[in-house]
Amino acid sequence: MKAMVLHQPGKPLRYEEVERPEPGKDLVLIKVHACGVCRTDQHIVDGELSDPKLPLIPGHEIIGEIVENGEGSGRFSIGQRVGVPWLGHTCGHCYYCKNGHENLCENAKFTGYTINGGYAEYTVAEERYCFPIPEQYEDTHAAPLMCAGLIGFRSYSMVGDAKRIGFYGFGASAHILIQIARNDGREVYAFTRSGDKTGQDFARNLGAVWAGGSNEKPPEELDAAILFAPVGALVPAALKTVRKAGIVVCAGIHMSDIPSFPYKILWEERQIKSVANLTRADGEGFVKAASKTKIDTEVHPYKLEDANRALQDLREGNFNGAAVLTMNS
Ligand SMILES: [Zn+2]
Ligand SMILES: [Zn+2]
Repeated sequence: MKAMVLHQPGKPLRYEEVERPEPGKDLVLIKVHACGVCRTDQHIVDGELSDPKLPLIPGHEIIGEIVENGEGSGRFSIGQRVGVPWLGHTCGHCYYCKNGHENLCENAKFTGYTINGGYAEYTVAEERYCFPIPEQYEDTHAAPLMCAGLIGFRSYSMVGDAKRIGFYGFGASAHILIQIARNDGREVYAFTRSGDKTGQDFARNLGAVWAGGSNEKPPEELDAAILFAPVGALVPAALKTVRKAGIVVCAGIHMSDIPSFPYKILWEERQIKSVANLTRADGEGFVKAASKTKIDTEVHPYKLEDANRALQDLREGNFNGAAVLTMNS
């Protein structure tokens, strides 16, 4: 099968012929239809996340169909469409698994990072971590839901009943989450790179009540802010926009260093939280929400062999919405 393979972080992926994986115990073999290109993939390829499996097939926003059930598998039927997210394995017996925090499992494995992912024609996954995909979504439009949507949804759940929410970085996650937030009657304030008029228009068109640069003050004090952009300087910036007891959620897996800031912008019970990974329950909750509300994802399709170009466009912020690789073999 064809795949895009990472041999050395910091170097481009290579388009190669590799052996098709076999579905071992508890695994399913999936023919990949589409795979989203996530910010995390970019961090892995650029060497900003330590110790990826090498060589590695990246990609953790996988949509495909079951072609074979391994021993002990049978939750899905042959031909059924499934999604595969970032969380690919947990141990079930560590402190975190036993206490409802499998996203923090000591022995977790992650799709497209410590196990091979979906930048390929086929992939294998543990069936317990796959989700059925609601019919109303086409493959390419469903792919960004698997991480941008899902981990965004977990971040969103951390702001409680906040009514006015700031989104810092209006990319793949934010453009999905704003649709759920609006549906829940929340107000979204979008912060983009300063001067990014296209990004601000994009946010307004999706219903943001205000859009501006990340150095600007919104017209209202916010109840919470979610940081999607991997920029540490946004933490103090966001703290200054939230009210007393406001919450600032860092949604990414990697962020540049946070500059020091005066204690008084944290004081009065403001909180800073981070989000790590997802649980299967998050996945199920999100799939349920996505089958009730139709989420429109803006996607930019690329061929599998053009994954490096998709990653470059993501680095440079050349598009609104999400990049998705499509496999048409
Ligand atoms: Zn565990
Ligand atoms: Zn991701």
